[in-house]
Amino acid sequence: MTALSIPIRQVLNDRREKLAAMMDPSGANQAVVRRLAQVDSALKQLDEGKYGICGVCSKHIDESELIANPFLTQCVSHLPAEQLKKIFRDQAFAELIATTALPEDVLGKGITLAPWSSGSTPEIDQDIKRARDVQAELMPESRFHHEAWDIFYEFIPSGPLSGDYCDLVRVNPGEVFMMFGDAMGKGITACMTTCRLHALFRTLLELKLPLAELVDRANRIFCQCVQTSGHYATLLCGRATAEGTFELINAGHLPPLVLRDSGVDRVASAGAKGMPLGLFFDSAYEVSQVHVALGETLLCYTDGLTEARDAGDNEYGHDRLAKVAHENRHLPLEELVSACREDIAAFTSRSSFSDDFTLLALRRIS
Ligand SMILES: [Zn+2]
Repeated sequence: MTALSIPIRQVLNDRREKLAAMMDPSGANQAVVRRLAQVDSALKQLDEGKYGICGVCSKHIDESELIANPFLTQCVSHLPAEQLKKIFRDQAFAELIATTALPEDVLGKGITLAPWSSGSTPEIDQDIKRARDVQAELMPESRFHHEAWDIFYEFIPSGPLSGDYCDLVRVNPGEVFMMFGDAMGKGITACMTTCRLHALFRTLLELKLPLAELVDRANRIFCQCVQTSGHYATLLCGRATAEGTFELINAGHLPPLVLRDSGVDRVASAGAKGMPLGLFFDSAYEVSQVHVALGETLLCYTDGLTEARDAGDNEYGHDRLAKVAHENRHLPLEELVSACREDIAAFTSRSSFSDDFTLLALRRIS
């Protein structure tokens, strides 16, 4: 075993675990199945001492490159020029927003961490309260009107800080971008990941990229930022235009619902289901055109809604959410969102949620 295999094995095993958790029991998610096979093949090569060797010159590929992208088969000198350009460009971007380091170097950066004592103190309480206020500052206004669209969302963290990520940004005249997702885990760590995503997308949006390129780049930069911590996030990234078109990329998030008079559509076509951000450097994201007719509403939600449980440990589920949302589809957005929240509260018989709750409704109004 070479020295190379230690952090890489951790990275691969960590990806394997995450993929296994994402696996649909029916094996329907082909993207997950393909990725698992790729991870297993890399682990096998590692055991055989064949991993991380450039297919052109047979030299070892740089370890930091492999940690960010464990499936590289060529060294930096032999990557196609176009791919190399992308890697360098995104690496430079990642370095602007984070100092990346290999796992063993985290505490060797010359940083002295403050001593940690467990237990809450008034200072820690005060600090968490301030952090909560900062997170609230990063949220968009809950009522958002833009050209052909009316948007309303409700955000109820289960603790002082939330791992749900929701942002709405007006970009070109007539365009609004929606970022809606869920960072791995809960609480302070997940909240820090959402702050990172917020900064990343707000910066990238300035470049006015097409939707697929925006999410591809955000993923690559995010992968480079989180290579030590292994954090990841699911995301829906949407672009709504003044003409009423809506483009969507789904990076491993729950499928949104479109509430129509004829019924409820789950936006879950195979092409609309990409990998969460931060897992695989070479993930590619496909754009779906979602048809939302005049008066119809698109509903995005986090797993805090559908995975809410009653006293008998039964899950609330997608079907019940779809049913109650459809029954209330003609109400003003605030009332539609309240009806869903109240139905979940009635189901769980609890006044508070045990996981973060974020529900966003986007209605085409012209
Ligand atoms: Zn080479």
